[in-house]
Amino acid sequence: MKILVCISHVPDTTSKINFTGDSTEFDTNGVQFVINPYDEFALTRAIWFQEKQGATVTVVNVGDATTEPTLRKALAIGADAAIRIDAKPTDGYFVAQQLAELYKKENYDLVLMGKESIDYNGAMVPGLLASFLDIDYINACIGLEVEGTNAQASREIDGGVEKVSATLPIIVAGQKGLVEEKDLKIPNMRGIMMARKKPLTVMPATDASATTEINSFEKPAEKGACKMIDASNVDELINLLHNEAKVI
Ligand SMILES: Cc1cc2nc3c(=O)[nH]c(=O)nc-3n(C[C@H](O)[C@H](O)[C@H](O)COP(=O)(O)OP(=O)(O)OC[C@H]3O[C@@H](n4cnc5c(N)ncnc54)[C@H](O)[C@@H]3O)c2cc1C
Repeated sequence: MKILVCISHVPDTTSKINFTGDSTEFDTNGVQFVINPYDEFALTRAIWFQEKQGATVTVVNVGDATTEPTLRKALAIGADAAIRIDAKPTDGYFVAQQLAELYKKENYDLVLMGKESIDYNGAMVPGLLASFLDIDYINACIGLEVEGTNAQASREIDGGVEKVSATLPIIVAGQKGLVEEKDLKIPNMRGIMMARKKPLTVMPATDASATTEINSFEKPAEKGACKMIDASNVDELINLLHNEAKVI
């Protein structure tokens, strides 16, 4: 089985978020980048197929050279090869176009992605990719088994689980449950050494354009100072909630 795992390179959740250029651009200064957490679930499941059933796992990112350490981390975790499509990922439509061109050249059996990327939270790339390629798409996937060309998947739905089957090739956008958090793979020293020798191919971008443009970003209002009240002073608590916070 030939698996493609799409990796989004996102700021670590503990990063301090700032904007530049009149609040139109994310300020990457001092920001630590990581593999998108949802993509880690996808990658770990792909490595499971590689180890247990025999599969080749290629990871891909649409981005500039600064994303290469993230791809190397995916190689250290166990992917066989990495591809960087050399372009600024200007929006989800543009990214999906790039991934579609790669797919058309390589014909993967299974494309594993995250259900959303935790930076811009567009949740649009997997669906767009499926529509560009006209192949089946399973979103919010919390369990995936593949036997030959038959895939059995579980999806999280409101208040329950939906079980679906599909025939490869398919695109699956995963989340926690695809593998458990405790099973996420962490690169070890051997993996890091081996990753240095694995291929990381840089491909030129295909001609495509973004369909959206950022006008500005706005940060949430700063949180007010925290007031500590003595645990026995219920009257003061009620007074503050009523007269100051005006919530009761
Ligand atoms: C208007 C706009 C302008 C932007 N401008 C910039 C910019 O100038 N510079 C910049 O770095 N980013 C920019 N971004 C962010 C960049 O476009 C996103 O990383 C990308 O569009 C996917 O974001 P998303 O939130 O829609 O992904 P989602 O659809 O939420 O991602 C779902 C899954 O798709 C896959 N995926 C998403 N992005 C990639 C990727 N790049 N490569 C491989 N797989 C991927 C992953 O598996 C991910 O889990 C911009 C986004 C928007 C909407």
